Amino acid sequence: MSNESEKLLIVNNLATTFSTAGGPLPAVSGVSFEMLRNETIGIVGESGSGKTVLSRTIMGLQPRTNVVVTGSVLLNGNEMVGASEDFKRGLWGTEVAMVFQDPMTSLNPVMRIGKQIDESLRVRLGMSKVDAKARAIELLELVGIPSPAHRYSAYPGQLSGGMRQRVVIAIALACSPKLLMADEPTTGLDVTIQAQILNLLDELKERLHMSVVLVTHDLGVVATRTSRIIVMYAGRIVEIGDTRDVFHHHRMPYTRALLESSPKVSNASHTRLTTIPGRPPNLLKLSDGCSFAPRCSYATDRCHNERPELQPADEPAHSFACWNPLPTTRGASA
Ligand code: SF4
Repeated sequence: MSNESEKLLIVNNLATTFSTAGGPLPAVSGVSFEMLRNETIGIVGESGSGKTVLSRTIMGLQPRTNVVVTGSVLLNGNEMVGASEDFKRGLWGTEVAMVFQDPMTSLNPVMRIGKQIDESLRVRLGMSKVDAKARAIELLELVGIPSPAHRYSAYPGQLSGGMRQRVVIAIALACSPKLLMADEPTTGLDVTIQAQILNLLDELKERLHMSVVLVTHDLGVVATRTSRIIVMYAGRIVEIGDTRDVFHHHRMPYTRALLESSPKVSNASHTRLTTIPGRPPNLLKLSDGCSFAPRCSYATDRCHNERPELQPADEPAHSFACWNPLPTTRGASA
């Protein structure tokens, strides 16, 4: 069992609701989980499942208006919900940092990459110009940029997609965060570069003693790199557990559908992936029942009328939200 000092992140009953012209939009609802120091977890789900809003809410990165956040996010003992912008800014970089999806939009195209790293070192850590440049070159080396002193003066457009994502990671690591959030860090990169970036994150996590949250639609990304997985649908956690349990003993039909729609190394080439029928629900028009019901082949009347809450599975720390769970496969596989 973990004790309190081993917990880096405690999220409790978190909800993020946007005010829209169509009414309140509950992008995240009732989310609770904990994360240990030096742990890597995966948050997975289709686009619109709430995973990106959840990761931004944990960081305190919502817009200042038209959003209401309730619940609690305790990050290394610091409450993020309701904190002032100044307080959160003081934690960004040192306690938590984010690697965004698209390096081209998170890097300034008209600023040399070295300067973009220098900036956070000088502003946040108060380093001198000379020290910041030396540290920026070290960081470029740390993330595997060849000839880092030379590349320090390059513009983002002069680098490949994979190299740009390494620069984004270097910027995120500049102030040695305890928690690194990576939101679809490999989307748009080819498979070989994807593996390199994910291996780099693994390596850096060990070397820098960080915790990492991998946010992705692709279960293949989190299969071998996380200790636990959170599956989200329509803004809620629908299954959570150790990675092995979620992969091999999942009980929620949505988790199975996600797994079946993810590419696998064992698939023969040109294997057609299964798609999940239907579309994610309109969050402005959620029913009282299970949000997955219109797409679920196991749905019964109860599913359409009553929302299932998370309930414990057979394995410790494994829970799922479903009225008609898939039969347990425990004992069926070694
Ligand atoms: S509660 Fe019903 S609709 Fe929802 S996943 Fe389970 S079986 Fe399907």
